[in-house]
Amino acid sequence: MNTIAPRGVARLVRGMPTSDGAGVKLTRVIGQPQLPDLDPFLLLDEFGTDNPGDYIAGFPDHPHRGFETVTYMLDGRMRHRDNHGHEGVLAPGAVQWMTAGRGIVHSEMPEQQSGRMRGFQLWINLPAREKLTAPKYQEFTAEKIPQLDSRGLRVKVIAGTLEGLSGPIAQPATDPTYLDIELPPGQVFSHALPAGHTAFVYVYEGEALIGEGDAPATTRTRELAVLTDGGAIRLEGRADSPTRAILVAGRPLREPVAKYGPFVMNTREELRQAFEDFQNGRF
Ligand code: FE
Repeated sequence: MNTIAPRGVARLVRGMPTSDGAGVKLTRVIGQPQLPDLDPFLLLDEFGTDNPGDYIAGFPDHPHRGFETVTYMLDGRMRHRDNHGHEGVLAPGAVQWMTAGRGIVHSEMPEQQSGRMRGFQLWINLPAREKLTAPKYQEFTAEKIPQLDSRGLRVKVIAGTLEGLSGPIAQPATDPTYLDIELPPGQVFSHALPAGHTAFVYVYEGEALIGEGDAPATTRTRELAVLTDGGAIRLEGRADSPTRAILVAGRPLREPVAKYGPFVMNTREELRQAFEDFQNGRF
């Protein structure tokens, strides 16, 4: 018989407070010194605050080339606008999966003056053959994201499949899983992930016990658990109130990464070309 071992926790990484854009305060989890990247994931930011001073400056015009940005809003509204004429507002529960490909220049600005702004931005790399693809968007409002409800357990399926529910996002290159999980105290959630996929759990409220057997790891708020390879992962809610976490996985690309800020290519020559194209208005 051929069995796949359950997944455990390879390491825990604590998010680091930082700021980006025009001075937006956020927690950087992937893309910081303790975890520079996690192939195919290049960056994970959590933004979450009730204080408009932390977010009001937003992210004025900036470029991207060579990868995808995934914005998932929990609270608040964000307006995005790009140089190809695409514009819209992300409301709570919405997902924007943007394939920057050969290049876009866009802004991401809060569409509110007060109240809570909360969500995530994840950057996912593209394989060499797709880095210069035409830019495109996959955008879905909260109602378009399937949700599993079971004895207080709630799971939103943004990408991947769970008990017959399929997330709306399609990206064959990295075949991503992206679940948003709400876990009542003491309840268990298990999910089989494709073997060989890089996977992590990021806890954003409460506390979870992750993995099984001798060494499950207590993962606290604002900690990311990098999972060992294998099949299923087990999470158990360990807080007095519901634990909330995202579970994300994807096929690693195993290609050279040359990155500088918002450009992520395979070689330094391609990076130089990205700068030149941007400066000459070719995005
Ligand atoms: Fe951006």
